[in-house]
Amino acid sequence: MAARASHMIGSPIDSSTSLLAAQTHDIVRFAMGSPAAEAIPTEVLTEIAATELKGADAFDYAATEGDPSIREALLRALEGTSDETSADRLTITAGGMQGLDLACKLFVDPGDLVVVESPTYTNGSGTALSYQAELLEVPVDTDGMDVEFLAQEVERTGRAPKAIYTVPTFQNPSGTTMSLERRRRLLELALRWGSVVIDDDPYGLLRFAGTDVPTLHELAEGDPLVFSVRTFSKIIAPGLRVGWVDADPSLQPLLIAAKQAMDTCTNLPAQRLVAGFLREGHLADHLVTQRAEYQRRKVAMQESLSEHFADLAHWTDPEGGFFLWVSFDQPVDTEALFEVALAEGVAYIPGNAFSPAKRFPHDLRLCFASTAPDRIREGVARLRAAVDRLRES
Ligand code: PMP
Repeated sequence: MAARASHMIGSPIDSSTSLLAAQTHDIVRFAMGSPAAEAIPTEVLTEIAATELKGADAFDYAATEGDPSIREALLRALEGTSDETSADRLTITAGGMQGLDLACKLFVDPGDLVVVESPTYTNGSGTALSYQAELLEVPVDTDGMDVEFLAQEVERTGRAPKAIYTVPTFQNPSGTTMSLERRRRLLELALRWGSVVIDDDPYGLLRFAGTDVPTLHELAEGDPLVFSVRTFSKIIAPGLRVGWVDADPSLQPLLIAAKQAMDTCTNLPAQRLVAGFLREGHLADHLVTQRAEYQRRKVAMQESLSEHFADLAHWTDPEGGFFLWVSFDQPVDTEALFEVALAEGVAYIPGNAFSPAKRFPHDLRLCFASTAPDRIREGVARLRAAVDRLRES
């Protein structure tokens, strides 16, 4: 077995999909970060399929950097946005996960120090671990990653990170957003240290409150050290497995070579569906509907948390995205709670799943996006019943 095999820890989030599929009783699912079933534009995609997927060429191999259909449509869709890019910076990927894998493959050697947020998106930190990185967890507060903590840590140890992995907007799992000031400071430090910034931002277009903050990609103004990972999973559909990477043009040949050794090209029928969706201008309207619905769901979750957990816990107040983060004020072992909650008919992801050093034994992540408001209320009531049962046992 290769040495790296023992560093592949898997994903507790992804594993919850098969775990929950095997359950036969009714479960309110706050675990996976899936869009609402109602938010998947199935009718439009079916219509697009009827035209875009007619010929055999839609089922052939595609160019590794992405089919011209989606590349052109995406470049146009991004014009004037905080993610505007150009053909020489753009590579189409199999979802955001492949972007993260490519970033680590290009930048992380065994033993390299990689900064992650604490809590972090565990599939991102897990990717860095699979390339045998050493991780440094930097706390997250209501303004995102505590960049000054990071600066002090690097000064104290004299060891600069090779890469800094962040989900700056509506972070997975905490729902918090990095302030403009911290984004600027992070870029300044990264450029000083020569660290690549892996800017993973799948939720930025799903803002339902507050005001937009420029992306790290935009603030970096083309600096070669910012590697941006994007995906259609949250804004169109995760099963398509289509995303993109925005990186310095000098990296594109390497990205193509690395991707050729992985999967040759991204699934072409899926690329054509996304291309049609973008070209026909559906994305803007679709986002308006999604944002309004996700806000309703977040409010429903916060109201039910206030009703059932005000005496026990506090939670974050995301202005967009899919998740909020619940922290118990007294010890409640959320890993032990999981089994009890499942029996009560509700699923979530325990806090420790989001920390390589397991710093969050009394926290949990809830996804409000995939569940309708009435079911959210039911799920939160079940969660409270589970906590009471665990505390009585
Ligand atoms: N990054 C973050 C922060 C995510 O939340 C997700 C999806 N849960 C991904 C990357 C992976 O995206 P995809 O499903 O497109 O691979």
